[in-house]
Amino acid sequence: MKKNVIIFSTIGIILLILIGICCFIFFDENHKVAVLCYHNLATAEEIANFPDEKDWVIDVNNFEEQLKYLKDHNYKTLTIDEFYKWKKGEIDIPYKSVLITFDDGFLSNYHYAFPLLKKYNMNATVFLVGEFIDSAEQEEWDGNIKTYMTKNLLEKSKIEYPNIDFCSHSYGLHYENSIKENSIISMKDDTVIFDNNMTETKVFSYPFGEYNHNIIEALKQKGYIMAFRYGPTKDDYRKASRDDDDFKIPRLNISHGMEIWKFGLRLLLPN
Ligand SMILES: [Zn+2]
Repeated sequence: MKKNVIIFSTIGIILLILIGICCFIFFDENHKVAVLCYHNLATAEEIANFPDEKDWVIDVNNFEEQLKYLKDHNYKTLTIDEFYKWKKGEIDIPYKSVLITFDDGFLSNYHYAFPLLKKYNMNATVFLVGEFIDSAEQEEWDGNIKTYMTKNLLEKSKIEYPNIDFCSHSYGLHYENSIKENSIISMKDDTVIFDNNMTETKVFSYPFGEYNHNIIEALKQKGYIMAFRYGPTKDDYRKASRDDDDFKIPRLNISHGMEIWKFGLRLLLPN
């Protein structure tokens, strides 16, 4: 008899704790948002031709599976403007909200990602490397994943895909150690060239995830409102909260894809 009381009390306490955790997760006003970071996309056959690039490429089928998961589980995909307004406490968003982002501006984004995002009626943000776009020539997809959207495709995308926001991944600073070597002045100049040649924006994602005081200061002086990180360590891949520094917003790295059960679980985890 006494043993039963202990068992039932223990089960009761565990249930109360679980209900408490659920309430905390679902009704916490200052909940966190998963900012998903992708790079390139390709079919499994295409990826096989570029073994050195596999960390940066998601299988198109896996990408669609993830979008379908978001849709089936009623996730809202935020625009960059909605994300900013949420961050500043200007609007509330559903607990199940994510921000989908792509770095670099690969041709595969136009070829594979944009039509799928349109199919599922979802928003996303692409951080472009200006000089890669300016020097790109190829528009037809031939499976070469090391190609970027052309300027013409960027302009077409702005009309064809109003659900996509375009922001800066720098105009010409996407090379190794560029951020370490650059001054406030060169960073400020870079933002002007980006605005004049790509699209006007006040949102940045750091090339290779690298940033320092000078770069942040330059962005602030040019009126930028947010900048996104990428790592650098595994611990830095976490959800974003309103408390995060606006110029050090963390993202989750799913560039190389993720099994769907893991993807779902990752979104549910509080951090
Ligand atoms: Zn990049």
